[in-house]
Amino acid sequence: MADCIFCAIAGHDIPTEAVYEDDKIICFHDLEPQAPVHVLVIPKKHISSLDAVTEEDRELMGYIMFKIHELAADLGLENGYRVVINNGEDAFQTVKHLHFHILGKRKLTWPPG
Ligand code: 5GP
Ligand code: ZN
Repeated sequence: MADCIFCAIAGHDIPTEAVYEDDKIICFHDLEPQAPVHVLVIPKKHISSLDAVTEEDRELMGYIMFKIHELAADLGLENGYRVVINNGEDAFQTVKHLHFHILGKRKLTWPPG
């Protein structure tokens, strides 16, 4: 997808140090971390938001969930972590390519801001 920063990261057009990568997803550190551990997991396929997920993406979504807990373990988040999907304007989704934030290594308050 042209003009999508996360497609550029997924396609290595923007050099980014990957925490994890395979043919379906890439995980990398957030540019502005909100916790000692703050990584993003994105599908390499361009999906603009959670709202744009379709039946066709069922397997990919399940795969991402499974990989997230594997990555959390690899990142040493045994004491807990939060997974966030910001969807749409009210949630301040700033990058229009579906991404899952994984935040950890601090107490994460609830309700979120
Ligand atoms: P959103 O608000 O859309 O859920 O989150 C987008 C996240 O992407 C933000 O936390 C922001 O810091 C991060 N981000 C935006 N552009 C880049 C980038 O070019 N590289 C990295 N590593 N993170 C980015
Ligand atoms: Zn994209």
